[in-house]
Amino acid sequence: MAKITLDNLAHSYLAKPESEDDFALKELNHVWTDGEAYALLGSSGCGKSTLLNIISGLVHPSQGRILFGDVDVTHASTADRNIAQVFQFPVVYDTMTVRDNLAFPLKNRGASPEYIAKRVQEIGAMIGMEAELDNRARGLTADAKQKISLGRGMVREDVNALLFDEPLTVIDPHMKWELRTQLKSLHHEFGHTMIYVTHDQTEALTFADKVVVMYDGRVVQIGTPQELFERPEHTFVGYFIGSPGMNVIPAKVNGTTAEVHGTSVQLAKHFGKLDGKVELGIRPEFVSLTKGEGLPVNIRRVEDVGRHKIVRAELFGEEINILAPEGQGISPDMNRISFDQDHVNVYVNDWRTEGKAA
Ligand code: ADP
Ligand code: MG
Repeated sequence: MAKITLDNLAHSYLAKPESEDDFALKELNHVWTDGEAYALLGSSGCGKSTLLNIISGLVHPSQGRILFGDVDVTHASTADRNIAQVFQFPVVYDTMTVRDNLAFPLKNRGASPEYIAKRVQEIGAMIGMEAELDNRARGLTADAKQKISLGRGMVREDVNALLFDEPLTVIDPHMKWELRTQLKSLHHEFGHTMIYVTHDQTEALTFADKVVVMYDGRVVQIGTPQELFERPEHTFVGYFIGSPGMNVIPAKVNGTTAEVHGTSVQLAKHFGKLDGKVELGIRPEFVSLTKGEGLPVNIRRVEDVGRHKIVRAELFGEEINILAPEGQGISPDMNRISFDQDHVNVYVNDWRTEGKAA
């Protein structure tokens, strides 16, 4: 197991990158703590696999260094890095049995037959394939083959890190939950450094201690699920995490007052006079429907989703979402909204800015 240091790392797939746009991974400095479970979260094409493959050694970065512990592994092969990687689609040996597929990484490293037999049995149970251990992999469903790939990724206890690249894509929804739970318990049991790539926020937030949010080749925030919820450092994080995501409202800010289309909104902190693209970020959880006072809204639609209602409304022509408690009646005269001051974030050119105590 190892701490992983990314030092001044960046990658372009082009031979002669000219501008920042040419980089699939923009410059990044970060230390991944030994033994933590990370999720790498972002939409398709934002650079998640590029970063993961740089850590595993499948891609050589155009700039910077990677260290495992204190050892520079930037030019080391995948095998020398001693990691396990599971990909989106199954990689199994069709002519081998399920048992032999699972045993393969252990045999390769010279483990004893007794240990292999015991460990393969355990992993077979974890992936729910105990009964099929002696079947050949050929002819199994994609779903079953992917479970074997996952099992093979988890079979070795002595790896530096476990890397997963959207490994549950082809798995049916019930088994998805089951396998994610298994991965989590594996993490608790062995304390491996784990990096789990996904575009699904639920997967990321339930699996990881820390979530690394990527946007357009850049790591925009690394934080606990709670930090990402309460203090999104970039408007993208606010928007991408949460359901529905954070409302982003153009405003003018001066001191402790924000102005939204001429209406004043009191802020909890002092921000001075802000220039550039200034916006307020407020999650639907912290917006309340009121009567008489506050910003005027037109309610478009109310969705009852059980625990609460999602109110889809319009604020000066822009969509705004409000979460209303399950039992709250919504009458036509509730055409104003107010914000929970402590949960209003202020953004300048998409990045969060910290105010001073007012
Ligand atoms: P993600 O895993 O988040 O979907 P990727 O890391 O696969 O994103 O891709 C990031 C960017 O790099 C994308 O624009 C993609 O088209 C590009 N890219 C990925 N792999 C290659 C490659 N082998 N050659 C050239 N461009 C690539
Ligand atoms: Mg990918």
